[in-house]
Amino acid sequence: MAYKTINPYTNEVVKEYSNTTDQELEEALQIGKDLYEKFKTQLVKERGKILHDVAAKIREQADELARACTIDMGKLFTEAQGEVELCAVIADWFADHSEEMLKPEPVETSANGTAEIQHHATGVLVMVEPWNFPYYQIMRVFAPNFMVGNPMILKHASNTPTSAKMMADIIIEAGAPKGSIAHLFLTYDQVTNAIEDPRVQGVALTGSERGGEAVAQAAGKNLKKTTMELGGMDPFVVLDDANMDDVSDIAWRSRLYNAGQECTSSKRFIVMENVYDEFVERLKENFSKVQPGDPLDPKTTLAPMNTKKAKEDLQEQVDEAIKAGAKVEYGNEAIDLPGQFFMPTILTNIDKDNPAHSTELFGPVAVVYKVSTEKEAIELANDSSYGLGGIVFAGDSEHGAEVASQIETGMVFVNNFRYSLPELPFGGVKRSGYGREMSRLGQMAFVNEKLIVKA
Ligand code: NAP
Repeated sequence: MAYKTINPYTNEVVKEYSNTTDQELEEALQIGKDLYEKFKTQLVKERGKILHDVAAKIREQADELARACTIDMGKLFTEAQGEVELCAVIADWFADHSEEMLKPEPVETSANGTAEIQHHATGVLVMVEPWNFPYYQIMRVFAPNFMVGNPMILKHASNTPTSAKMMADIIIEAGAPKGSIAHLFLTYDQVTNAIEDPRVQGVALTGSERGGEAVAQAAGKNLKKTTMELGGMDPFVVLDDANMDDVSDIAWRSRLYNAGQECTSSKRFIVMENVYDEFVERLKENFSKVQPGDPLDPKTTLAPMNTKKAKEDLQEQVDEAIKAGAKVEYGNEAIDLPGQFFMPTILTNIDKDNPAHSTELFGPVAVVYKVSTEKEAIELANDSSYGLGGIVFAGDSEHGAEVASQIETGMVFVNNFRYSLPELPFGGVKRSGYGREMSRLGQMAFVNEKLIVKA
């Protein structure tokens, strides 16, 4: 069976799930289509009440959810608790703000009469989501689209089936009508079939470029709208007047959070030469303090990676980088524990031909570059096929923001840790994808912005 929970700390196969049949998919599509029709006659406010109930139920079951996530993919229990709470915050925010955001907007026009844009649902959506934030990725798409009135078919990652099922079940148990989110164990072919189905009007995917290309291709062939939240190689730029205590505190966390398996993890540290040595020393020191162990134990500070394959793939990438001339400043040693642990590693001396310069390292490996001018820092930050997020540290936040505005990504944080909140749009440019989730922009992703002109 393709869908399995294998605990990456113990390597135990905890649970397996059978694939959805074509008949079950057909039923889910029809239930979704019928619900779309029903949602048309329901006030947005009514769905807001249900979404608040979803948030309350998530909080009630927070520890069970967090535990399931830790067992599915190894996330530290405390980080999983944070993810669960963020889902409740997202649900509450869209419950509170959607009615206002979805109100008709008057348009000033020279036409004879008045014009307005109304915001209508479009139909059933397919969402394809990854394992690294198994709950948050669902909620980013579910909450705004539930408020709009778009029912959803969910295909989640094959290695986090238990968490995905728990979240989808909680949503329905909290009062969302059946079909609001239909969590199915789909094959790739069934995802394509669902996308081709006329009842489906859009697809939201978060994942790799490989997955994104396949899904966007199927959607493009059928002229269905998509949003793509893909990989990243986010720069972390340290200017020469940055506060090095703040930099040191945030740099290691921004690389090792979620065992480095985050699209917006800081992956490329671009540091001005006068603070470079201090930066590398302090990063080494912080990396050396993390404690691998049972991710359910609050004393553990380094989680295992999500699968054996993920760890092996990362090791292969690090080996390739070293073969191409990278210097190991720290790490790249085995951790003597049965789980899928990868020792935090720092690589320097990466030139432009090194694969580590251009390929996403989805785990606890930091690449550090030395630059001598701010211009060089910005050029290096932009020398990537990705464009998701980034961090800039500068003595003066205003100056940091000027540098941030020259970085070709969808989000940059200045003198701060990166984070996600429902009111802030999330998304990237270039091969990091297109479209935005969260905020008003995410709310409108699958809305029919319909013009009505009255004489
Ligand atoms: P992935 O392999 O693309 O998987 C993501 C989802 O897509 C899974 O549900 C996967 O199903 C599905 N999938 C993959 N290929 C498919 C296909 N041909 N047809 C239908 N479904 C398909 O991504 P991953 O490597 O697990 O996740 C890590 C990547 O996601 C990283 O690159 C990371 O940067 C990116 N990411 C981006 C964001 C963002 O918001 N921009 C957030 C988190 C992660 P299976 O599990 O069954 O293969």
